[in-house]
Amino acid sequence: LTHSPYEPLQADTLADRLGGLPQMTARIGPPAQWRVSEIGDGNLNLVFIVEGAAGSVVVKQALPYARVVGESWPMSLDRSFFEQEALLRLGRRDPGRLPEIYYFDRHQAIQIMEHLRPHVILRKGLMAGERFPLMAGQLGRYLARTLFRGSDWAMETARRKADLALFAGNVELCGITEDLFFTDPFHDCARNSHSPGLDSAVAAIRADRELKLAALELKARFCGSAQTLLHGDLHTGSIMVCAADTRIIDAEFATYGPMGFDIGSLLANLWMAVFALPGLRPDDEAMPAYRGWILDTAETIWTTFAEEFTRLWHGERGGILGGRELFEDQADAIGSELALNTMLDGIWRDAVGFAGIEIHRRILGLAHIPEFETITDEARRAGCEYRALMAGRVLAVERGRLATIGQVRTLIARLE
Ligand code: ADP
Ligand code: MG
Ligand code: MG
Ligand code: MG
Repeated sequence: LTHSPYEPLQADTLADRLGGLPQMTARIGPPAQWRVSEIGDGNLNLVFIVEGAAGSVVVKQALPYARVVGESWPMSLDRSFFEQEALLRLGRRDPGRLPEIYYFDRHQAIQIMEHLRPHVILRKGLMAGERFPLMAGQLGRYLARTLFRGSDWAMETARRKADLALFAGNVELCGITEDLFFTDPFHDCARNSHSPGLDSAVAAIRADRELKLAALELKARFCGSAQTLLHGDLHTGSIMVCAADTRIIDAEFATYGPMGFDIGSLLANLWMAVFALPGLRPDDEAMPAYRGWILDTAETIWTTFAEEFTRLWHGERGGILGGRELFEDQADAIGSELALNTMLDGIWRDAVGFAGIEIHRRILGLAHIPEFETITDEARRAGCEYRALMAGRVLAVERGRLATIGQVRTLIARLE
C-alpha cells in the first residue's frame, strides 16, 4: 500500500487494497466477507464504511482535489496528515471525544478509524428534531479541555513552538478558511451564491462598511492570534451524537488560532438551526419548544465551557504563561480571578464575532447548509436566511456589547 503510487479507493477495490492490513482483519475479519459502502457526505474526502464478519470500521481518504468543486480545485493530500496529527492531540486533551484511530498511511492519505454508531451527524439530528441530553455538557468540556490544554496556559515552550511550526504547514486549508469565512461573503466573489430573494440584502451587506470593518478585524484576529490548536471546522456536521455520547470528527482544518473560533463556529450553527426551523417545519406544533431546546443547548455549552475552563485554570495552569507564582502563591486570589475573567471575556467576544462571520459565509459564500437549502419555499427560505443575517451582523459588529449569551438569546427572539 505504502509503496504503490497514490490512488483513490473505490468500493470494489477496497478489499483488495486494504485486505492485507492486520489493523483491518484483526478488527473486522477476513476481506472475503467485507461489505463496503461509500458514505462520504462531506465536502472534501472519500469516506467508506467497511463491515466484516467481526465488526466494522470507517476508512477516510483524501483526494487530490476538493470534492465539492471537482478536479478543477486541486488540494494537497497533506491535509490528511494534519488531520491525523490534530486528532491525536485533541484526543489526548479530551480522551474519548474523538474516534479511535487504528491506522494511518500518509502516502495514500488513508485513515482507518472507529465506526461511530449509533451516532448521527448532529446537523441531521437537529433537522430531525432529536434531543441529546448529554451533548451540551460533553461539548462544553471538550471545548474547554482542548482549547486550554493546547494553549500557552498549559504547554511548555519547546513543545508549544514545535506544534505551532508543525501546524503552520497546514497552509492550504487555513488559507481556505481565511478567504471563505472572512473575505468572500463580503464582496462579489465568483465562488459565492445566495438565494434570489436576498439580492437587495446582499447589496446592502457589500455596502456595509461597519460590517466589513468587523470582518476584517476578525480576520486579523483569526490570522494573528495563535492562542491554541483549533479543530478549525467545528460546525454541526463535524459532530456525531447519540443519547449517551458525543464525538468530534473531521479535524483537517486544524490550525493555531483564537479559542473563540471553534466556540463561535459551533454556536453559530446551533443558532442557524434555530433560524431555519420555522422554514423547515412551519406546521409543527412542537417546533417552538424544540427551538428553545437548541437555544438552551447553546447556553449550556457556553456555561459548561466557562466552568470547565475555570476548573482547569485553577488546577492545571502552568505552561509558558506560568502558574500560581504571580497570584495564588502570594495570597492574591483576586489577581488570579481578574486574569481568568479577562481571558473568558476575550474568548466570549471573539466567539460572538466569529459566529457572526460563520452565519454570513454559510448564507452568502461557497459552503451552504442543508437547514436552509432544504427549505423548498423560496420566499420562506430567504426570510429565514435574512433573519439569520440580521443576527449575524449584530454578532459581528456589536461583539463588544453583547456581554452574555442571554443577550444573544434576546437578540434572536427579537428577530422573529
Ligand atoms: P469530509 O472531510 O469530507 O467532510 P468527514 O470526516 O466529515 O469528511 O466525513 C464525512 C461523513 O462520513 C460524515 O458526515 C459522517 O456521516 C461519516 N463519518 C465520518 N467519520 C465517521 C466515523 N468515524 N464513524 C461514522 N461515520 C463517520
Ligand atoms: Mg466533514
Ligand atoms: Mg460532513
Ligand atoms: Mg472535512
